[in-house]
Amino acid sequence: MDQHPETTAITAGRPSLTPDGALNPPVVLTSTFHAGGEIGYGRYGNQTWSALEEAIGALEGGSTLVFSSGMAAISAVFSILPVGAPVVASNQGYSGVMVLLNSFHESGRLEVRFVDVLDTQSVIDAMKGAALVWLESPTNPGLDVADLTTLIAAAKKLGIGVGVDNTFATPLVQTPLSMGADIVMHSVTKFLSGHSDVLMGSLSTNDSALLKRLHDSRSFNGSIPGPFESWLALRGLRTFPLRFNKSQENAQALVTKLGSHPKITRVRYPGFGAIISFEVDGTAEQTQKVCESSKLIAHATSLGGVESLWERRRRWPMESASVPEQLIRLSVGCEHVDDLWNDINLALASI
Ligand SMILES: *Cc1c(COP(=O)(O)O)cnc(C)c1O
Repeated sequence: MDQHPETTAITAGRPSLTPDGALNPPVVLTSTFHAGGEIGYGRYGNQTWSALEEAIGALEGGSTLVFSSGMAAISAVFSILPVGAPVVASNQGYSGVMVLLNSFHESGRLEVRFVDVLDTQSVIDAMKGAALVWLESPTNPGLDVADLTTLIAAAKKLGIGVGVDNTFATPLVQTPLSMGADIVMHSVTKFLSGHSDVLMGSLSTNDSALLKRLHDSRSFNGSIPGPFESWLALRGLRTFPLRFNKSQENAQALVTKLGSHPKITRVRYPGFGAIISFEVDGTAEQTQKVCESSKLIAHATSLGGVESLWERRRRWPMESASVPEQLIRLSVGCEHVDDLWNDINLALASI
């Protein structure tokens, strides 16, 4: 039987077992290495990155590269596409990616075909002649779930590359490489590291030629993580399944309560995971006031940490106009669920 991810998260990326050898990989703080080895220089590799890469790779089922942020990881994927390459991507997703894709499209760097990922056939129709299909599922913050099995199979049939942003679902819910995707990406900043103290990204693949191109992109664009940040992320990863399962259990309990609250008009939740997006029965200003009225839930962007966070996504001018003004994205942490519900109730009572 295959080892469970709960075990892999704890065991992967450890130094080999030797008497008095450390249980944990050391933080290798060096910019250069003695000549004659495989790494050579600190922009090409680092033993602390490798330990984290081994652990994320074991969870996703592929060889992994870590980057300085999730955006750096995504940028590496787009950087290896030829100028003007057609890319199929969701018309709704993480705002930073939308900004990047729109700017690439406007400048002619890429020809981006924006699609509604809920309409599987329209996504397949847009694939003709494309170089890459980039899927985020569930999407941030709309929580739309794409039919990955069908879409990946369709792309493979046409010989088109597929990349999946797996930040929200995590390998505990889905492993896109096992479904045939070429690349799986993470904002390691979120659930994998899990303590809101580090920014990092990752790409995993089973294609060695692709891995080499992505490695070259990281080396020569210089989008490398710090060794200490990599160590922090690996430390966080050890408890990722514990944290994710607890946050998910809390989220599932909160979804039921939110759905029957008189001041909430709509609750979006894909049935798994720790992110809930809900809409307040009120104006943008009132919604903003709710976010500012919590005592326990921090009013802050980002997600996937042990601490619950929420925000009105449209407070960011770059957020898509398709996201309602009254939408609050709640990242459910590991606090006691009764304390979270009390806090949500009090904040909603402020309007
Ligand atoms: C946060 C996020 C990113 C960007 O990652 P950073 O680590 O902030 O650069 C990409 N995709 C999704 C789905 C995210 O939530």
